[in-house]
Amino acid sequence: MSESGSALNHFPADRLRALAAGLFEDLRRMSFDGVGVTRECFGLLETAAQEHIAALAAAHGLQVARDRVRNLVVTLPGADPSAPFVATGSHLDTVPRGGNYDGAAGVVAGLLALVCIKLRGVAPSRTLKLLALRGEESAWFGKSWIGSRALFGQLDASDLARARFDTGRPLRAYLEDIGADVGAIARGEPIVRPSDIDVFIETHIEQGPVLQAQALPLGVVTGIYGNVRHMNIVCRGEAAHAGATPRFLRRDAVVAVADFVMRMDAHWARWLGDGKQLALTHGVIATDPKEHAVSRVPGEVRFSVEIRSDDWESLHGFHRLLREEAEAVSLARGVSFDFDEAIANRPAPMDPRWVDRLDRLCERAGIPHMRLASAAGHDAAVFAHAGVPTAMLFIRNAHGSHNPREGMDIDDLLLATRILADAMLTEAG
Ligand SMILES: [Zn+2]
Repeated sequence: MSESGSALNHFPADRLRALAAGLFEDLRRMSFDGVGVTRECFGLLETAAQEHIAALAAAHGLQVARDRVRNLVVTLPGADPSAPFVATGSHLDTVPRGGNYDGAAGVVAGLLALVCIKLRGVAPSRTLKLLALRGEESAWFGKSWIGSRALFGQLDASDLARARFDTGRPLRAYLEDIGADVGAIARGEPIVRPSDIDVFIETHIEQGPVLQAQALPLGVVTGIYGNVRHMNIVCRGEAAHAGATPRFLRRDAVVAVADFVMRMDAHWARWLGDGKQLALTHGVIATDPKEHAVSRVPGEVRFSVEIRSDDWESLHGFHRLLREEAEAVSLARGVSFDFDEAIANRPAPMDPRWVDRLDRLCERAGIPHMRLASAAGHDAAVFAHAGVPTAMLFIRNAHGSHNPREGMDIDDLLLATRILADAMLTEAG
């Protein structure tokens, strides 16, 4: 199914390793902030990182262009330019004081894959593209995946009015600074059609500890979690004197919420036991400091709920349970629950054929790997939601992500590059 054994065979392994290590070192040097690395969405250092990648791509004979939102597009033309293209990519921006591998690993792997394929000297049957997508991190403008959303015309004027958290300047101004076509972006004009893209394969460091714990260099992602969130649920009982109010007459909001939390925790354990992928978190929970007291039965508690899952039905099903249990606790304890509007993000399942293909490619190359879902969001979710067949490859990474201690091994990155290059040369069907 592949056009060659491995495209990486055309590049001496030690030179490829040195090229990759040098690239990450360059990126770190140009964006070191004294603690970690900072490359702001649509800022100078994101642009500088992009230009560094572009210069290397051009030096290796690849075509380099910028699209309307100034995503970097590196192209290796295929024998049949009219066929849908095969794309890989990730982002070069970081959170403030972030790590050097989040996003950049996928861009570097994509660049190395294209360079190696180009060195074979035979045009691939399909055009191959590397996208260095801008503005992935929500930390700056409160919106994720800006570059990839713009690809599919999913931004509007209200998005462009979003202010950057530290400067207060709107996204529109940053886009104008870098020469983006702000008018077309605000009108929601797409840059590509989903049918133009045969597959999008994103390589990314794993931002959790699973691959490290399992001693596996690579993971094949089965899907990206979606979520349902309530930011502010209010449980109302009745405030009362802590001494004078007997237990059977109390309508204690804290006890009611505690009961509710434990009921949901029991459901969560049961669902996990049934093999469902789910995460439940109450990250915010509080009585009102203006009126709470050691000697007062609490009359009101505010709290949040976040449910994550790779399965939309599970999210809905678990969300229904939430309402049912709130009803049951209300009856049992004489309280009421006032839910704010739920905010939902759909999960993004990866294309099952491509999950199988990546699995097989890892097996054939003898690379230990596992399948796992991504609990963190990625540009790949935007492609999957747009209807593009989408796949993701995770690289083992120590110490988590969005911090300066991200720890990826260059040898693991090269394994991912090998699988990515082979996957990009895999014939569809
Ligand atoms: Zn990322």
